[in-house]
Amino acid sequence: MTTTRKTVDPTHFLTVNAPYTMPMGFTCAVHKHDSWVPMEKHHVLPQALGGPNTKDNLITVCCNGHYAIHEFMRQLTLTGGKVPWEQARHYGAKVREYATSGWEQSGSPKKAEAPLDSSD
Ligand SMILES: [Zn+2]
Ligand SMILES: [Zn+2]
Repeated sequence: MTTTRKTVDPTHFLTVNAPYTMPMGFTCAVHKHDSWVPMEKHHVLPQALGGPNTKDNLITVCCNGHYAIHEFMRQLTLTGGKVPWEQARHYGAKVREYATSGWEQSGSPKKAEAPLDSSD
């Protein structure tokens, strides 16, 4: 029995499956990219918090930038908006800007009282 392996075309995902894969591009709102990377839509005021599906509230970011924005919003919530510079400096200026905007528009939520932890 012979197994025939198909040769993988490196551009496969840019052509055949294009409608089904994440769009690729350069137009990241938080970085300059010199090669194509997967792009995602981010709602500056997150949809889960009532952010509208409008052009003003949508930016295109790469998946890394998207993760960073959401992580920085989490940090803002944990620190009540006072993320120590030691931590904040790891995030790009644009990431901090969009995250802060979303966090402020959502009413600058603070972390709820930490639940009692008896397992110390
Ligand atoms: Zn997002
Ligand atoms: Zn990017």
